[in-house]
Amino acid sequence: MAIRIAIGLAVSGIGLAVVGWRAWFLFRLVSTGRPAPGRMRDVPAQLKAELLDVFAQRKLLRRSVPGLAHFFTFWGFIILFFTIIEAYGDLFSKTFAIPLIGRGRALGFLEDFFAVAILLALATFSLIRVRQAPSRRERQSRFYGSHTGAAWVTLAMIFGVVATLLIYRGAQVNTGHFPYGKSWWPFASRAVGAAFSGFGHAANGHIETVFILAQLTVIWSFFVFVLHSKHLHIFVSEPNVLFSRRPKALGPLGTTPDLDPDNMTEDTVLGTGHIADLTWKQRLDLISCTECGRCQDQCPAWATDKPLSPKLLIMELRDHLMAAAPELLAAAKAKGSGAGEDGAAAAPALEEDGVAAKRLVPDVIEEDVLWSCTTCGACVEQCPVDIEHVDTILDMRRYEVLMEARFPTEAGTMLRNIENRGDPWGLGQSQRLDWTEGLGFEVPVVTGTIPDEVEYLFWVGCAGALDERARKTTQAIARLLHRAGVSFAVLGPKESCTGDPARRLGNEYLFQTQAQTNIETLKAAEVKKVVASCPHCFNTISREYPALGGDFEVLHHTQLLERLLAEGKLRPETRVESTVTYHDPCYLGRHNEVYDEPRGVLEHVPGVSVTEMHRHKRTGFCCGAGGARMWMEERIGKRINVARTDEALGTGADVISTACPYCLIMLDDATKGRQAEGAAPESVRVMDVAQVLEQSLPAPAAASEGTGAPD
Ligand code: SF4
Ligand code: SF4
Repeated sequence: MAIRIAIGLAVSGIGLAVVGWRAWFLFRLVSTGRPAPGRMRDVPAQLKAELLDVFAQRKLLRRSVPGLAHFFTFWGFIILFFTIIEAYGDLFSKTFAIPLIGRGRALGFLEDFFAVAILLALATFSLIRVRQAPSRRERQSRFYGSHTGAAWVTLAMIFGVVATLLIYRGAQVNTGHFPYGKSWWPFASRAVGAAFSGFGHAANGHIETVFILAQLTVIWSFFVFVLHSKHLHIFVSEPNVLFSRRPKALGPLGTTPDLDPDNMTEDTVLGTGHIADLTWKQRLDLISCTECGRCQDQCPAWATDKPLSPKLLIMELRDHLMAAAPELLAAAKAKGSGAGEDGAAAAPALEEDGVAAKRLVPDVIEEDVLWSCTTCGACVEQCPVDIEHVDTILDMRRYEVLMEARFPTEAGTMLRNIENRGDPWGLGQSQRLDWTEGLGFEVPVVTGTIPDEVEYLFWVGCAGALDERARKTTQAIARLLHRAGVSFAVLGPKESCTGDPARRLGNEYLFQTQAQTNIETLKAAEVKKVVASCPHCFNTISREYPALGGDFEVLHHTQLLERLLAEGKLRPETRVESTVTYHDPCYLGRHNEVYDEPRGVLEHVPGVSVTEMHRHKRTGFCCGAGGARMWMEERIGKRINVARTDEALGTGADVISTACPYCLIMLDDATKGRQAEGAAPESVRVMDVAQVLEQSLPAPAAASEGTGAPD
């Protein structure tokens, strides 16, 4: 008895010491990151996410087979915690049972049920890993680049935990030390006990002792291994989900602190250029990655053979963080408290030739990786532990642009155009009203304050006002609003780029300049309600301007049109015999969860049959224009817009519909390209849902003059 207590306590003591040291190291490594303000801004939403994403495994269950396997493993670990208490109790007293509940058949059943469920889950994980082994499918495997060796060790250790558990419990059945007596509710332990019954009482006693000690050894080895491997997520994913942005991890970008040159010093760091510049949340993100590859599986850049994989990016940053950890911790210790409060000059002094002095781009992350991102958000949406890849990518872009003035040269033209002319094409404000010609009614232009009788400010957007194809959508929306009796006005030459492309490229300074100008314009005009046709404008004004003092009620045109249809203010009558497939714009769908309204508009159109692409709604595939990619050459791999258009053409639809001017341009270009190659029927057209809807309305009544609404 004394020997087994001594062995049990020695194993536990060593395990606890190693685990404790590692946990303290990780805590210091994360907590000495830069400040990440606002991480508990919405506590009910944080707790709800914790409940749904961690305890109910919501995101993981989207893939039913691995999701269920993970669900039972997660809950198995929680339930089997009781068996650890029982094992320690048995060390000291062979008749130990957990007080109150420890002899009840419910606990005995639950323990055995989850032990068996974990074994089945392990078999499922093994099968998935064998079937999706990287060598089999290379880039197509979501495990491509993951540490599969460590995953196999982990699976083996979990098997060891459950196997030793069932063996010592089976022996306990025969020695009479089983807390659940002769009940058959702990069915698996009873079955093992039946198999061991022929060994005799003494042999079962030895088996019980040896396997209890074996179990404690496996458990502590597992904890030590987990804290030194990617399976660290078992312990850190819970806080990572808790501290993620809410209501969901994909959301408005944080603003860079003080961009006023007068307040900057030579220590000021804008964006993330070195590993020390990461916030504590970004460091927590890195060590939370499970290497599951769900993000990689959905990434349009990776799917079209670009070098960017969000998983590999996170893994490379994590490996670099670990390599630089001794320097980071030493510097934080020397500094006293690690991070400053302003977030802009918080990085502690580091050795010039140390690991931490490496530039993230290009020393750790290749430039092409950084600039391949379309900011579509598919990675964040998929990630089961709510890692915020887009924020980290954009922070690295900010550093490159603001601190180093390094970015793809062709994007420089776009930045200069916005800065000098107010739009990415550099066409100037004078052409912003050209789309109104030939409408047949007058669109009021706000000069002072918006008139009381005008309900909406129609934010046309640069593409909507200046691109020939997008203008057709703008005109269709204006005609539809006019026919529905909605009063609206536009800013005309006073409208300027929201700054979205500049922000996504990393030029936060230009974004904030544009944002401040537009907010002042909207406030001066006393605008309350805005309808925007471009999802990028919609997202920026509704979700990113509030952080800079601009609070407006913003609708996307599909939301307003759907409402007008539901209210009977628009009555589609003419049949439009078409099969339509709808492409979800990333900044309308995934970023803002507007999935149903555009489809609702299409469903109102008589004769239209809607067919979905394989990847749609939450798993929709980017058109390739986001993240300022619209203004960069796509030199590597297959063009994303072509890949998406091929999916759309594969549905057999004769109309590819969308609700974003950028998507419209990208898909239209690719469709025309395929048509020129003879790979797509000439009849296929790319249209905004507003244009599809307009086809179904009877011929308009005589045009009226006035406020954008019929008299
Ligand atoms: S935002 Fe989109 S393109 Fe960028 S890494 Fe994530 S999935 Fe890939
Ligand atoms: S970042 Fe998230 S989705 Fe991607 S591999 Fe890591 S845990 Fe999985």
